[in-house]
Amino acid sequence: VSFEDMKLKPELLRGIYAYGFERPSAIQQRAIKQIVSGRDVIAQAQSGTGKTATFSISALQVIDTQTRETQVLIMAPTRELASQIQKVVLAIGDYMNVQCHASYGGTNVGEDMRKLDYGQHIVAGTPGRVLDMIRRRNLRTRAIRMLILDEADEMLDKGFKEQIYDVYRYLPPGTQEANFTVSMMHGDMPQKEREAIMKDFRAT
Ligand code: AMP
Repeated sequence: VSFEDMKLKPELLRGIYAYGFERPSAIQQRAIKQIVSGRDVIAQAQSGTGKTATFSISALQVIDTQTRETQVLIMAPTRELASQIQKVVLAIGDYMNVQCHASYGGTNVGEDMRKLDYGQHIVAGTPGRVLDMIRRRNLRTRAIRMLILDEADEMLDKGFKEQIYDVYRYLPPGTQEANFTVSMMHGDMPQKEREAIMKDFRAT
């Protein structure tokens, strides 16, 4: 499978090649198509496998840049990761006129609110600040259709579970979910197991 085979938007494809990628990594070959098709996905991927680009490309493919609404929310366990994700999205989306904001703790709240008010197609952040921005209504969830959890297992380990559950409550029903875990499972996971884990992630 090549990037051309993935039926991506031409301006996205252009960004991928301009970024220096020639062919998709194994996880990109397997996961982008599934995520773009709208399915809930759990993928086990260590860093170094191309996971950041996997969900960044998927997010860029599904957003509509004609509106300014936030359509994809990405959560990660650390500020560094959130910031790195934003950089990858902006770099690969260089030809797309995409607005992507990184929202994480330790930065100026007013500035964060202003950037969100301006309109961001994709928001990458840490759970605490994201929840704060949702509660303040600066991050509007109405048009969100995809939630991506990077290092989901790490986030659970770090005690973000309650905050992630609280974020779920603000997402429109039927929001698609793509979870990336570092070590939760290896190789192909049986459907039953996958569903059990998805359920564990979901708010009740
Ligand atoms: P990650 O797994 O997201 O930490 O990415 C690891 C490294 O692989 C990063 O430096 C990416 O820029 C690089 N990378 C990701 N996908 C590709 C690809 N398809 N071709 C070449 N390099 C890639």
